[in-house]
Amino acid sequence: MIIVLKSLATDAERVAIVERIEELGLRAHVSTGEERTIIGVVGNDRAVDPSAFESLPGVERTIPILRPFKLVSRDFKPEPTCITLGNGVTIGGEAITVIAGPCAVESREQLLTTAKAVRSAGAHLLRGGAFKPRSSPYSFQGMGEEGLAILAEAKSETGLGIVTELMSESEIDTVARYADVIQIGARNMQNFSLLKEVGRLRKPVLIKRGMSSTLEELCLAAEHVMSQGNRDVMLCERGIRTFERATRNTLDLSAVAVLKEWTHLPVLVDPSHGTGKRSLVTSMSLAAIAAGADGLIIEVHPHPDRALSDGPQSLAFDQFHSLMQQMRALVAVVGRKL
Ligand code: PEP
Ligand code: MN
Repeated sequence: MIIVLKSLATDAERVAIVERIEELGLRAHVSTGEERTIIGVVGNDRAVDPSAFESLPGVERTIPILRPFKLVSRDFKPEPTCITLGNGVTIGGEAITVIAGPCAVESREQLLTTAKAVRSAGAHLLRGGAFKPRSSPYSFQGMGEEGLAILAEAKSETGLGIVTELMSESEIDTVARYADVIQIGARNMQNFSLLKEVGRLRKPVLIKRGMSSTLEELCLAAEHVMSQGNRDVMLCERGIRTFERATRNTLDLSAVAVLKEWTHLPVLVDPSHGTGKRSLVTSMSLAAIAAGADGLIIEVHPHPDRALSDGPQSLAFDQFHSLMQQMRALVAVVGRKL
């Protein structure tokens, strides 16, 4: 449930309400807005009678929350979450954030040339997997820590922050040392122990929607992270499995609008995995921004035809450059910045 305080509620009244919540074995999540304070009650509050709170001084009203996620919910925190990274890049504000780079780090040369190309085209963050979740055990599995060291070198040369995937709890310290944003991949979206571990970090987390997951399940994945104290979570629509075979996945752009209604978290779109086809990436990127997405994560490779993973959906440098130019024209129309 949510407890809305009166606009003139005092600090002492707020403290007394929080104490009452804690006495009942629940947790209070206080959100101080410009006009008034609201307190989210977290835990299993089904057995608690709302009138127990309505009679407390300073309380205006209580609102039951019917959705199973709470900290993630816009009811709990009406204002959008804006995540600021060390290099000043923000995600979830007025500006659109573009994350670009190869599917996987393959070599020093491949990554450094890509980092420079995407930076000069206007990308804000560099992506690249060092630990790759591959459907086949015989496919390229990623360079591991050596790949992370190359990402670090690219960061120091270009200033771009790093977004890279964490696949397993055993690598959490290593990946956290190099990453500015930790990516949880579609296949791990419901790896609850991994989600809880990243929840204990103080580092932004990008959660990709599982290919067979509902939006409620995606929000609950974020709730797992946030329930451990990490508030810097962003969500990413990356396409789901449907009967349609024309694209690798079906990019669910309505997810953007739904997630924006339900949550205060930044919402990103991955048109590369979402379509699996290079020729569709630009149109779906523009559509994602028009639908209200806060950013994009796009695969770019110096020689897409020679990529060790996801070449068919990777853009060449000139294609990424042209996408960014089209994006600049669009953001002005939709009242955003780039
Ligand atoms: C990726 O970003 O390269 C990736 C593996 O994405 P997903 O988890 O969405 O398949
Ligand atoms: Mn990929």
